[in-house]
Amino acid sequence: MFALHKVRWLLAIALLLPALPALAADKKIKITTTVTMVADLARSVGGDRVEVEALMGPGVDPHLYKAAASDVTKLQQADVIFYSGLLLEGKMQDIFGKLARSKRFVYAVTESIPLDRLLEPPEFAGHYDPHVWFDVPLWKLCIDTVAKGLSEFDPAGKDGYEKRAAATRARLDELQAWALKKAGELPAERRILVTSHDAYNYFGRAYGFQVVGLQGISTVSEAGLADVAKLTDFIKQKKIKAVFVESSVPHDTIERISKDAGVKIGGELFSDAMGTPGQIENGYDLGTYEGMIKHNLTTIVEALK
Ligand SMILES: [Zn+2]
Repeated sequence: MFALHKVRWLLAIALLLPALPALAADKKIKITTTVTMVADLARSVGGDRVEVEALMGPGVDPHLYKAAASDVTKLQQADVIFYSGLLLEGKMQDIFGKLARSKRFVYAVTESIPLDRLLEPPEFAGHYDPHVWFDVPLWKLCIDTVAKGLSEFDPAGKDGYEKRAAATRARLDELQAWALKKAGELPAERRILVTSHDAYNYFGRAYGFQVVGLQGISTVSEAGLADVAKLTDFIKQKKIKAVFVESSVPHDTIERISKDAGVKIGGELFSDAMGTPGQIENGYDLGTYEGMIKHNLTTIVEALK
């Protein structure tokens, strides 16, 4: 008797479940991104309405990243997809192409940057340099695509997205003022940045640094012996005080150059991935875009002073 009673109750509850609209209203918009910098933008603009997951975590190199089957599933299940674009995610182009044909809400955040503000370095023949996030005003332009994409998927949230987009732009204006001041602490002739791969061309243009990367724009091609010798000579000749390793690129070649040229390693910079959220260094949260920019500039300026 008692058991039957219980079964009836369970049945009644089960019948009630699909009719609960409150659950649907609380459902967050699922956003999947590639790199963490894009996830940070999506969180800033999306606020409470969204739930964001980045496929590539701290230390992951987007140039070499191949999507696993589980990533493809996540992308297919996402409401909105944001990626960086300009071939940063070089091995995922086919997937984005396919997704864009079957889904409406797939966006490269860099599409809101006017082409004449992009760099087209000779070593990346015919392609734009994708590392735009190191020029804060350029990255700020990407907010437009995020706000547009979210509003297209969720028109009811448009006001909120635009408000948060404006607040994010204001925050990045403050960051830019800070960055210009920080770079200004270093005399112009000391502003030479030597790193593993050419992730800092936009950084160099924005903050007045000459940038020398060992591996070229993408990490796909490795440095040859001739490059290593040339860079060692350059460092000695310019009396550069420090070289830098990157969190998403193996350290060995830069370590060798540091030894050969007799210069110290000035620290680890973030290039194509942010740090771990909540990891605080010098008061900066390395898992945020602002923390990443401040960490890099502080590390560079202090080591080259
Ligand atoms: Zn890169």
